[in-house]
Amino acid sequence: MCIFCKIINNEIPSYKVYEDEYVLAILDISQVCDGHTLILPKKHYDNFLDADLQTINRCMNVIKILSNKYKKILNSKGFNILNNTNEIAGQTVFHLHFHLIPRYDENDEIDISFNRKKPFDLAKIHEILK
Ligand code: 5GP
Ligand code: ZN
Repeated sequence: MCIFCKIINNEIPSYKVYEDEYVLAILDISQVCDGHTLILPKKHYDNFLDADLQTINRCMNVIKILSNKYKKILNSKGFNILNNTNEIAGQTVFHLHFHLIPRYDENDEIDISFNRKKPFDLAKIHEILK
């Protein structure tokens, strides 16, 4: 059984911030920012690709509830909402989860940047994907 399934089954303790029939939200053990939260379906899916839309929607609904709550309680100014799918993208726990990361100020030391250094051909990429 995976570590998040053990948390869902209360075999491993966690700090829960939301729970319903389908979804659990817990504080991430590493807290990149105060309130860093993981939103996970109670049913095990290895990752985003494996999960059905209803499950993903249920998680999104909880992300919406919690981000509104955190904005009020923590006075966060914005959020990063992210999912890592597979090892190449940084996934380390293979039970679908979304990170909700409250942002407070420009000195919070979180750096999520999209700066490609290699050249690329936008039209060619579009040709492949359209
Ligand atoms: P990933 O890298 O897979 O997107 O994120 C996994 C996250 O799970 C990491 O941010 C890590 O800190 C968190 N994590 C790993 N083990 C535990 C645990 O036992 N409890 C909690 N609350 N978080 C965990
Ligand atoms: Zn699991």
